Amino acid sequence: MSSISYKDARRDPSLRLAFLGEIDLEDKTKYIESLYPSQTYAPDNCLMACTPRMSYGLTSIITIYPNAFETFQNMDEFLSALIDHEGKHAEDFFNDFNPDVRGLEIRAYQNQIDNFPRRPNCGEFFRNKTRENLELFTQMNPAEAMLLATREGFTI
Ligand SMILES: [Zn+2]
Repeated sequence: MSSISYKDARRDPSLRLAFLGEIDLEDKTKYIESLYPSQTYAPDNCLMACTPRMSYGLTSIITIYPNAFETFQNMDEFLSALIDHEGKHAEDFFNDFNPDVRGLEIRAYQNQIDNFPRRPNCGEFFRNKTRENLELFTQMNPAEAMLLATREGFTI
């Protein structure tokens, strides 16, 4: 059990590095090099990002932007985004580098939905947003998704 609560980390940015250091990354531990709490916001206002690796077999760094703490309402929502979404990207990058952004996002959003039963405090707004995002990428054509990924500052 963490000694620093999510509530404390939301309130006080100076606690975030220690808070992240105590998180159990569960089945995604072996794919994640480290968690990095960014002091600045992402150009595309994303909340968290997994750095794509250019080769398989490498662990990823996951960046957590300040607005993740401002957006996610509780620890279950935070872990859903961190482990079930970004951790899934890290696993995919580790196993086989795949530049298919559409496929990566579909797998990550689907993995979040599959794990909702384990994270009962994920709110309705959060669950609906996750389902909407899955739908968005499912309907997007692969070329459109690639364009999105190559846009400056875009993070997945
Ligand atoms: Zn993603």
